[in-house]
Amino acid sequence: MRKIYNVDRLRPIIAYAWKSPTHADIVSKALEILDNDGYREQHDFFAAYADILTEYATVPDRKGDTDKGKGYHYYCAKNVHGKRAVPTDSGYYKSGKNATTPSRYSRSARSIFEDDYQLALTFFASGGVENFAISMQFVGRCMHMISDVCCTPHTTDLTLTSSKSGRHKLFEQYARDIYQRFHAKNGFDSIYSKHFEESTVGEHMNDLAAMSAEYYDILIKAKKPTELDSAIENMLCLAQRSCAAFLLRFYKDAANKELALQNGKTYYLRSAANGRYLSSKGCFKSGVSLSKTAEKLILTANAQGFYELAFENGCKLSLAKKKEAQYELKIGKSANGYRILTGTSRFINAVTGANNGCVYSKQYDPDDLFQCWYFEAAK
Ligand SMILES: [Zn+2]
Repeated sequence: MRKIYNVDRLRPIIAYAWKSPTHADIVSKALEILDNDGYREQHDFFAAYADILTEYATVPDRKGDTDKGKGYHYYCAKNVHGKRAVPTDSGYYKSGKNATTPSRYSRSARSIFEDDYQLALTFFASGGVENFAISMQFVGRCMHMISDVCCTPHTTDLTLTSSKSGRHKLFEQYARDIYQRFHAKNGFDSIYSKHFEESTVGEHMNDLAAMSAEYYDILIKAKKPTELDSAIENMLCLAQRSCAAFLLRFYKDAANKELALQNGKTYYLRSAANGRYLSSKGCFKSGVSLSKTAEKLILTANAQGFYELAFENGCKLSLAKKKEAQYELKIGKSANGYRILTGTSRFINAVTGANNGCVYSKQYDPDDLFQCWYFEAAK
């Protein structure tokens, strides 16, 4: 294939969908859309945190960030050859193929979005200016993931180690040059309503992935960058409108404190597979088991983006194989319940029950009901 665009080979290979100025631009244009469409109250609330939203919409691409990893910001509705991908029964597409992780479901743009969404709700529910500001950090991160899913290379598995990596580089550099031209100005009713129809906000990521993947042929066949103009315009306007609709959905969900996992609150954790409860008694390997008797767990969240769950006897949920204590968890909501990813596995594995009552850390499979949990408020 003939090279049609100069790529600076001296720069390290770093995967971006949109570059940082583009992510920041999407956030500010999404806020303008809310204003233009008459969502004054919501606009004014989020505009007060515009600096945080803008900064944290770029943070997930920074080296060493908790949300960063090879193939993580992908959510592939098509494969690298343009063939439609089939989601799991519970509706999940895979992350990018160059993920070095065994599960391509635990760290995809959608699952990271869902995890960050929970944290945003948790800190919002805690109330107070400081917690609102932390909540907005996670809202900004969510907007990053939405924007990446509106970007064709990230929904068609065009990773930078794929056979079509040149197309990805061409796209990102050219989009960086022209992004400022495009401004949706107003939202679309269909995008607003889609965000509100879905039972979990993550489900709408499938629609966005399917829409952006439609530009695969244009991206692959373009003979010169300018042939991408209208595709990039459509993707960016989709990202701006989706981020605006997402902010409305968050504003509505955040007002209902019951939707949040609350910091410092006590819960019972019930398995979606067999209705049994997580217990600190039993399994000698992991120290936890499934039991008919409910046992209280205290949930805490920290601003670095992790949850912890501790039984009343002080034992924290870890499932660590090694001796080193590692209690950080990420919790995201799917249609079947919450998944709980373990820090010991670098958030690749999920807390998993089994029919024999054992609980262990296992590669995440979104269809496995033994990896889905209900948080029931303890009296
Ligand atoms: Zn990204």
